[in-house]
Amino acid sequence: MKSNKASQQDKRFSRRELFSVASSTAAVAAASFAIPRELSAEPQEHKHHAPLQGFKYDIEGSEGRVTAGGSAKEANVDEFPISESMAGVSMRLHPGGLRELHWHAIAAEWAYVIKGNIRTTVISPSGEAESADFGPGDVWYFPKGHGHALQCLGPEEAHFILVFDDGHFSEFGTFSITDWMGHTSPEILARNLNLPVSAFSSIPRDEAYIIQGNVPPAIPEDLRNATLPENQFPHKFRLAQMTPFRFSGGEERIVSSKEFPIQKTVTGVIQDLKPGALRELHWHPNADEWQYYISGRSRVTIFGAHGRVATEEFRPGQIAFIKQGFGHFVEQVGDEPTRILILFNSPVYEEISLSGWLGANPPALVADNFGFSAEQVAKLPKASRGILS
Ligand code: MN
Ligand code: MN
Repeated sequence: MKSNKASQQDKRFSRRELFSVASSTAAVAAASFAIPRELSAEPQEHKHHAPLQGFKYDIEGSEGRVTAGGSAKEANVDEFPISESMAGVSMRLHPGGLRELHWHAIAAEWAYVIKGNIRTTVISPSGEAESADFGPGDVWYFPKGHGHALQCLGPEEAHFILVFDDGHFSEFGTFSITDWMGHTSPEILARNLNLPVSAFSSIPRDEAYIIQGNVPPAIPEDLRNATLPENQFPHKFRLAQMTPFRFSGGEERIVSSKEFPIQKTVTGVIQDLKPGALRELHWHPNADEWQYYISGRSRVTIFGAHGRVATEEFRPGQIAFIKQGFGHFVEQVGDEPTRILILFNSPVYEEISLSGWLGANPPALVADNFGFSAEQVAKLPKASRGILS
């Protein structure tokens, strides 16, 4: 960015110089040819009329990847170009379905369980291990690179939403144990893992990804190494069990790194809107916003400066992406309440609302800004309203 600006200034300076020495028609002609080139080099944010990028994607409407043990649908920058900072995956596991041992090289994994029961195992670089059971409304967070696996406990299918803190992440390009071992010589594996070479002739040759395994016992078995220390920073947070922030039009549960210390790169939110509610005009100074519609419908309107606004309607299974600093609001539509899963790519939650902002200014300034009378200004809200009925 800096080097861009610097080269802009260099160009402007050279153009001024060019004009100051333009004594011949040839020099003037050269200058007029130079101008369009310079304009085309303007940075994106200065292109006042560039349309806003699309901010809606139908993740559940996509094909995804189906295996014997479950399925996954994803939205990263390939499918949804605006989502540079976060990628989402909607995963389903059948009872006994096993998302095999794997890790993610470039992203941390955040998850919210919509339906069903899942057991996870995870190992941290310090050698601390943890296995925990998750049900609807629970959240997990696996820092970048930590090895983990997921199993569906049944009795029903499990459905959960994964969000990764890098939009270039692909669930279909993660580091899986079978992919690695299947591409390592059996002699090396035999030396490393205390089994004869012949034992490795029947392991999967390629990534197994999601396997149909057995439903694990209700009471977890001990980990193979009983001496491993317990994890000191739990990977599990019960988001749905939090006391919500309540507003006239709905409620909100927010989990930042304050409540869930291991969750160092994101903040998660469950937002419930009553029919007809309005999530007031606001923006987030420090983060992009990724939304997944769990139930109900809503209309989202974004504001991207230079008179650019866009509105999209969302129904269950669709995702929205709102860039950092963009103004926005959400109108609930339809008779069924709306539940939205939201992720921000910062561990600290920040917002500025229109009501709160206007309350933080003197009445005369607000009157001058809009041409309002003192009586009109007196009626404006003085504090954030959150979700209005
Ligand atoms: Mn994973
Ligand atoms: Mn927002």
